[in-house]
Amino acid sequence: FGTPYAEVYAEGAFVPEKESRLSVLANAVSYGTGTFEGIRACWNPDHQELYLLEARAHYERMARSARILGLELPYDPEHLTRLSTELLRRNDVRADAYVRPLLLQADEQLAVRMHDCGTRLYLAATPMPGDYIDRRGVRCMVSAWRRTGDAAVPNRAKVIGSYVGPALAKTEALRNGFDEAIMLTGDGYVAEATTSNVLIRTGERWATPTATDDILAGITRWQVMHLLGEITGALVEERRVHRSELYSCDEALLCGTAVLVAPVVEVDGRPVGDGHAGETTLAVQRLLQAISRREDADHHPEWTTPVYGA
Ligand code: PMP
Repeated sequence: FGTPYAEVYAEGAFVPEKESRLSVLANAVSYGTGTFEGIRACWNPDHQELYLLEARAHYERMARSARILGLELPYDPEHLTRLSTELLRRNDVRADAYVRPLLLQADEQLAVRMHDCGTRLYLAATPMPGDYIDRRGVRCMVSAWRRTGDAAVPNRAKVIGSYVGPALAKTEALRNGFDEAIMLTGDGYVAEATTSNVLIRTGERWATPTATDDILAGITRWQVMHLLGEITGALVEERRVHRSELYSCDEALLCGTAVLVAPVVEVDGRPVGDGHAGETTLAVQRLLQAISRREDADHHPEWTTPVYGA
């Protein structure tokens, strides 16, 4: 993503990004003790309007993450959504952007614990490159790095420190000439990619790893499941997905706030289907792109929040 916009929300006020200091001894810097979110904002030039995609769902997830960590999120999802729209307005954002809320143990305390440490809420925004949507498809490898489980670092909470594993996996994949890594659960089932969820189609049936297993159940995943239901008339199965199904499926996609929807064209050197982006995947990608900009006012307008006309 690009350079952050000039103003951020830090410690209860909107301030220039350069003034939003966090001590090098802040607890979260050493121990990853905090939670974050990522929310997409989509510019519609015809409406001259910017839309936040599923802000409420992201802040509801942030509230759940905070509860798991025992951190106090100072505001409810409605207020956090309003802070996000205000942040974008103050920065006069008129392009695709990304909002990054952070809730951190921010006190200068070198103590490994999740209590008695002052927290801070930050919101920053960055531009999101316009060509971020992938139509050609990504080549994935199954990583040797496994996703942590609920008994280690719970993935249903979007914990800052838990991104070290995905970061190792991403670097491993890139160094081996792939675009992205798919990580397995501790017991060897497909979990998710480094910052996105995985769905596959075998014959007529779409499937994705169960939300309650060791994955971050993405908000985009939920949207894609919904849209696949509308397109195909069938439910996406939530179940355990085996590694070998990635090799034998007819279509596969990744979905998440950053990638939106990306076709997977290869896994571990084996083509997915005929090795080209799947038709249904591209249809869902087009639909979600249109919804995220409210190009079709009748199709799920409840998934977007206008920033300027709010
Ligand atoms: N899994 C992981 C590990 C992620 O970091 C993300 C990005 N938040 C996702 C899945 C996709 O989630 P969402 O669609 O809510 O962005």
